[in-house]
Formats: sequence, structure tokens, C-alpha cells
Amino acid sequence: MAKVRKAVIVGAGLGGLAAAIALRARGIEVEVFEQAANLGEVGAGVQLSPNAMKALRAMGVEQDVLADAFEPQRHVVRSWDSGREVSATQMKGVYAQQFGAGYYGFHRADLHAALLKSVPLACIRLDAHCTGVQSRGGTAVLRLADGSEHEADVLVGADGIHSAVRESLFGPESPRFTGVICWRGLVPAESLSGGLIAPDMTAWFGPKSTIVTYYVRGGRVVNWAAFCEADDWREESWRIAVDHGEVIRTYAQWHPSIRTLVEKTDRLYKWALHDRDPLKAWSRGPVTLLGDAAHPMLPYLAQGACMAIEDGYVLAQQLNRSDLTVEEALLAYQKERLPRTARVQKTSRERARVNQLTSPLARLRRDLTYAWNKFRHPERHTYQIEWIYGHDVTASRAA
Ligand code: FAD
Repeated sequence: MAKVRKAVIVGAGLGGLAAAIALRARGIEVEVFEQAANLGEVGAGVQLSPNAMKALRAMGVEQDVLADAFEPQRHVVRSWDSGREVSATQMKGVYAQQFGAGYYGFHRADLHAALLKSVPLACIRLDAHCTGVQSRGGTAVLRLADGSEHEADVLVGADGIHSAVRESLFGPESPRFTGVICWRGLVPAESLSGGLIAPDMTAWFGPKSTIVTYYVRGGRVVNWAAFCEADDWREESWRIAVDHGEVIRTYAQWHPSIRTLVEKTDRLYKWALHDRDPLKAWSRGPVTLLGDAAHPMLPYLAQGACMAIEDGYVLAQQLNRSDLTVEEALLAYQKERLPRTARVQKTSRERARVNQLTSPLARLRRDLTYAWNKFRHPERHTYQIEWIYGHDVTASRAA
């Protein structure tokens, strides 16, 4: 092994926990430092595609994670005003065979809690805000706001889009406001009349906006998120509540199902979406980055958490290699992960553009292309992202 006895992880989000599980499975002692006073996730949905599920399976947590998941029947693109089905791809009953694992919707809190079952609480320090990192004689040193320092053989910054670890390694640079804001909500399925929201992962494409609907909590709750081009709101918190009026006004011309969904939502939240251009490097000495700290992306492909999970698996595997030093293992991790995550970052941005075309002619051209592609290859995903779902980080080399 690359002489790693102990790893420190900054951040106990989905990425930090996945990395902790993967590293501990390789016999590496892990300590996670989380700035929040309590562990948990926001009340929202998150989807995991087969590529992430294969990594979770190899980490031994697939069954825990699936306990309260929902497997959608299909991926469906619908037209914003008529609700017409533009394109559909069967997922349930097909993906396990096609990609080696299924596609699922989760409540974030459920997914986080399921991962937490495999990380002993004694490994996690709360109220621990990282202010910087450094390398001292090949040892990684974490500095906390309380003035304390903590040493380890490896330090992993899994501290999200505003990563203090990233800033400490590569200097300050603000994330880019993407010009897209998001409203989101959860609705009990029992409060919606049957058939209003199909048991699919549906993306409603409209001018300047995409709305995504899917079930979580075993089908008991519908999650929706509306992404909308706007430049007057830059607040990034996931927890800012707004009233129904602004959402209903924005979507007044959309299909009645959308309006009903918004009206039936108890609490609505709004935030601004940020991303970054791909970095040229993630690692320096015994310190590296993972998840949104390394590659924040727009959510149009639902891959941010999936990429963080893949990162964690690959990181642990590279650190387990006996032929590499720690520094070499981190560079090998970066070399394997950076091109793939950069491609997903760029494809997510492109997705936003294609989903939200304003010109009716351009929309017609897009929809006809989808129809033609489906006619020729009905099994192919509308977005042609088999390269994302088919990837298996656990198969890339011997463990
Ligand atoms: P985070 O979840 O941001 O976790 C970072 C953790 O670090 C937090 O706990 C934070 O408190 C802690 N922290 C931060 N700074 C410090 C510090 N200085 N010291 C100590 N601790 C610190 N991805 C998918 O795969 N599928 C989806 O369906 C999907 N849907 C999405 C929908 C929306 C609307 C959005 C915005 C994103 C979506 N994503 C999705 C992306 C996904 O949410 C993120 O990529 C993922 O949560 C990133 O995980 P992370 O652990 O890297 O970072």
C-alpha cells in the first residue's frame, strides 16, 4: 500500500461519506471534519445512475442505500405546454442488464443516513470548520477555526463548491453564477390525483426552463426541481423559502400538472446555481479534492453526487496500490478522474442550452432529431449518455 495509515476528510456530505466508506474498506483509518453542528442533508431529491450504484455496490452499501429508494420506469422528455411525450427511454427492467445496475431516486436525507450507517460516529468531528491546509514534510496538516491542527498521511477536501481546501491549494477563485436559478419542492404522492405525475423520471423542456419530476421514498413522495434562466438572484443557500406566487406566475403558461404540483407543495425553496470551469489539477503533495470541491457542475445530468461517489471509490483504490507513493497515488487518482468529470461538467452545461431553447424552430429541430434517433435506436438514451451510465470504476483495474 502507498503507506497510508490515516486519512483526513473535510466535509461529511454525500461525497465525504462515500470516500470515508471506500477508504475504511481498504483498511485506512479515517477522520471526517464537518463544519455543521449536526449531520444531515436538505429536504430534496437526488438521483443516482448505474455508474454510481456500481461503486456503492463495491463499497458494500448498495442494499442499505436502496432501502427507501424509488426506481422510475422510464426517462421521459415532455413538452412544457402540451405535456406531449417528446422522447422516452425504458430504464426499469433494462438498466440492470444494460449497465450492470439500476437508476434510482432518493430523498437526500435517506441517502445520507444510509451512508452514515457505514461510518462510525466516532470517526466524525462536528463543529469543525476547516480554514486551511498545508503539507509539512510530506504530512498533510488540517487547520481548524478553533486554532487546532490535525495531521494525516492524506487529506481529502470534500467540502463542496466553496471548498476551503481548494482555495488553500490553488488560491481564491469564485464559482461562476450560471444564470440559472432553481425552485424545488416535495409533495406527498397521496395528495396528488393518480396519474398526475407518472412513475417516471420526467424532464419537462420549455423556453428558458427545465422542470424535473421523480418519486422518492419508495414512491410516497414526489420531488420536483424547476431550473430557470434568470439573472436577478444569486443566493446559494438551499434553505431560502419563497412564496408560491412567483413560481406560479413563472409557470402560468405551462401544463396544468406543473401548476397543481406547485400548488400542492407545502414549502418552496429557491437558490442560484453555480459551477466552475474544470480545474487543471486537484492534488498537491498529500492533499487532494473530491466531489463538488473538485468539479461542481450544473444538475441537468444529475451527476454531481454520482461523480463524487465514483471519486471516492477510485481514490481509495489508488491509495491502496503498493507500487505508488501517496503523492503518486493522488496524481493517478486525478489523472483517472479529471477527464471524465470535466466532460460531465461540460456536457451538463450543454444540456442546459439544449433543454431550454427559446426558438420554436430550434425546438422543433431538436425534437425531430430525438424522434429520428429513437426510431433508429429505441434502446438508446435520449441524451446519448451511455458513456456516463455504462462506466464502471470498479472494473477499471484490479482491486
Ligand atoms: P456537499 O454536498 O456540498 O458537501 C460538502 C460538505 O462539506 C457539507 O457537509 C459542508 O457543510 C462541509 N463543509 C463545507 N465547507 C467546510 C469547511 N470549511 N470545513 C468543514 N466542513 C465544510 N447530483 C446527482 O448525482 N444526482 C442528482 O439528482 C442531483 N440533483 C441535484 C439537484 C440540484 C438542484 C442541485 C443543486 C444539485 C444536484 N446534484 C445532483 C449535485 C449534488 O447535489 C452535488 O454534486 C453533491 O451533493 C456534492 O456532494 P459533496 O459531498 O461533494 O459536497
